[in-house]
Amino acid sequence: MNRVGVAIIGGGPAGLSAGLQLVRANRRIAILDSNRPRHSATLQSHGFLTRDGASPLELRRLGREEFEAYPTAVFSQAMTREVIPLSADEAITAGFPDGIGFRVRGTGIRGAADVEYVARRVLIAAGLTEDLPALPMIRAYYGTALHSCVECDGFEKTDKPLVLIGETSDLFARALLISRFSSDLIVFTNGADTLRPEQEAQLASIGVRVERRAIDDIVGEKAEMTGVRLADGEVVPRVGGFVRPRWHAPVEFMGELEIERDDWGLVVVDERGETSVRGVYAVGDIVPPGPQQLIIAAGNGARVAAKLNMDMIRGMLGVGMIDE
Ligand SMILES: Cc1cc2nc3c(=O)[nH]c(=O)nc-3n(C[C@H](O)[C@H](O)[C@H](O)COP(=O)(O)OP(=O)(O)OC[C@H]3O[C@@H](n4cnc5c(N)ncnc54)[C@H](O)[C@@H]3O)c2cc1C
Repeated sequence: MNRVGVAIIGGGPAGLSAGLQLVRANRRIAILDSNRPRHSATLQSHGFLTRDGASPLELRRLGREEFEAYPTAVFSQAMTREVIPLSADEAITAGFPDGIGFRVRGTGIRGAADVEYVARRVLIAAGLTEDLPALPMIRAYYGTALHSCVECDGFEKTDKPLVLIGETSDLFARALLISRFSSDLIVFTNGADTLRPEQEAQLASIGVRVERRAIDDIVGEKAEMTGVRLADGEVVPRVGGFVRPRWHAPVEFMGELEIERDDWGLVVVDERGETSVRGVYAVGDIVPPGPQQLIIAAGNGARVAAKLNMDMIRGMLGVGMIDE
């Protein structure tokens, strides 16, 4: 039996950081990772102290190396398919003193073997998947000319003619944030009714235009974005900017275990990082307020790892889960 203290689902900054803290707490930890990080579209990541400008892949490689340097670390290249709770008897038979445990199954990727772990706790660090507005060429510019995280990539776009493309109700706040970097900003709603007239007036007062016509596509020359073509054929010259994807928290592996989500579909956790399923924790982009930054995901991973460790210590002693 492949018995571990915690099975961590996802080997991005949140999962790796939690994993590092937990192996350093002398726990046997398995990370299952399907190697599809949200930021794989980009070549540089910004704002991670000591690694500003590093490639996202390099950051993951370094994180994995640090985790795997510990003897109780296991890293599996696998897509988690199932998380099944053990009965209290099964958990105790597995050696889990508080009667809580899970069977976690994953399908090996890139030629790796399938894996199965029996874990006392599960930590979901699976990040988010994202759908961009349905424009044929948008993916080609995503991660180079177009980004989604303003804090991460705003600086490089200072004073350029920018777009903000989105169809959700948080467009106004995003436009305000981007206006810090360039006042030459056009907000494209792609025909969606997401900006109120008073918001449009406020944006106009700081020089930001709103374009409500539907978009046909993003246009460019070779790798360079040159504009946005509207459905009526007009091309608005723009060199880049931001897009608001729709995010999805990929927790299908929880099966029939009902895990609470908020209105945006994010996984709800308490102040210790535990979900509505006892013994299952979550960290990183997948928890409210949703996608943020690498360093925040990593910090969240470290914080929740400490709570998880204490939960397991108290569970062993039978003294409950309140850690104050
Ligand atoms: C284009 C782009 C550019 C960005 N640039 C920056 C930047 O410059 N600076 C910055 O700070 N932030 C940046 N970000 C944001 C940053 O990437 C995220 O905030 C951060 O990666 C979140 O970390 P995470 O660990 O929660 O999730 P992720 O990094 O997405 O990692 C989640 C991992 O879980 C794995 N996974 C998912 N489902 C399963 C499953 N069922 N089984 C096993 N594994 C699974 C995925 O393969 C992935 O490896 C950018 C994001 C994007 C999209």
